[in-house]
Amino acid sequence: MNQHARVDDKPIPFIDVAAQRRRLGRAIDDAIARVLAHCQFIQGPEVRTLEAELAAFCGARYVIGCASGTDALLLVLMAWGIGPGDAVICPDFTFCATAEMVALVGATPVFADVQAETFNLDPDSLQRAVATAKRLGLKPRAVIPVDLFGLPADHEALAAVAAEHGLAVLDDAAQAFGAAYRGRKLGALATATATSFFPAKPLGCYGDGGAVFTDDEALAARIRSLRVHGEGVDKYDAARIGITGRLDSIQAAVLLEKLKIFPDEIAAREAIAARYSAGLADVATVPRVGNESTSVWAQYTIRLKPGRRDALAKALKSEGVPTAIYYAKPLHRQQAYCRFPLVDGGTPVTERLCDEVISLPMHAYLEPPIQDRIIAAVRRALAG
Ligand SMILES: *Cc1c(COP(=O)(O)O)cnc(C)c1O
Repeated sequence: MNQHARVDDKPIPFIDVAAQRRRLGRAIDDAIARVLAHCQFIQGPEVRTLEAELAAFCGARYVIGCASGTDALLLVLMAWGIGPGDAVICPDFTFCATAEMVALVGATPVFADVQAETFNLDPDSLQRAVATAKRLGLKPRAVIPVDLFGLPADHEALAAVAAEHGLAVLDDAAQAFGAAYRGRKLGALATATATSFFPAKPLGCYGDGGAVFTDDEALAARIRSLRVHGEGVDKYDAARIGITGRLDSIQAAVLLEKLKIFPDEIAAREAIAARYSAGLADVATVPRVGNESTSVWAQYTIRLKPGRRDALAKALKSEGVPTAIYYAKPLHRQQAYCRFPLVDGGTPVTERLCDEVISLPMHAYLEPPIQDRIIAAVRRALAG
């Protein structure tokens, strides 16, 4: 069998978690075995070490490990006391968890539009959404920009609008930990940043996990308390209503090993994205990062002329190339969110993107021959 035939036969994973597992090998086994030996499964020493290493990695002063990216968002909103009557502006083009936690604390998510080039929250739409919230009698309290697909939002422009209206900024960096904006890593940019260590995220663990990043000491202390049932001076002093939101020691141990190869993996993802763009820029709209940001390429998402996507997905599937649509429906049109307000004037860019986007296989271990096969398949499908 020649090399080409072998490459053609293998099914291609969308994200290859197993390839990274093979690379890490014994190091992960040993890290987990150390936790099994000391048996401090909850809040063990690995959690504190990880928090310190994550802080050093991104430049945030305080890091609080927690049970998921969703809990990270929830803990910040709870710590800020956001609730009924408050409005929190969210992008209409994101994973539902962004708005879900706003609704869960009893506040009102107000959906704003994104920019077509970056898929991220549009500062002008944020401005309009604040006005929409006030018109509806809500108190605009916060904004949750999302760094979608690994690319930082336009944080300075968004922070300027937020400052004008006294909004707190909670950055949803669930897909983008490790990325940088104007020379600063996410985690050190917003008042608070939430990330996720779900296995498919750029830095993933072997289960659920997440973290909150902040420079605000009082906020960090409140979140540490909320993470453990709102504990006060000790575990049995209930100072406030909290949650069970801790990160497991085993997941922290896994993350400590993964963090060692993370910069390497980011570089690999960058090279793979550049290769996709070189191979596809003349047949599709490829993502643009610009020179203010670096992306960690949680997804490699192209845009097609409306009406072409389903045929492409079908053609690729028949050649063993998986694709995904992030996202096919604006949040404001999802059953769970359609009762919440939409920015005045609507979200035409989000509507358009939902018809145009398609994501290709992306992970740090995508080998050039496999990627060539994907690129060739996309080109063939779009030429036909
Ligand atoms: C994955 C994700 C989350 C939630 O993270 P979990 O760890 O799965 O709870 C939140 N926001 C966005 C944008 C995400 O992609």
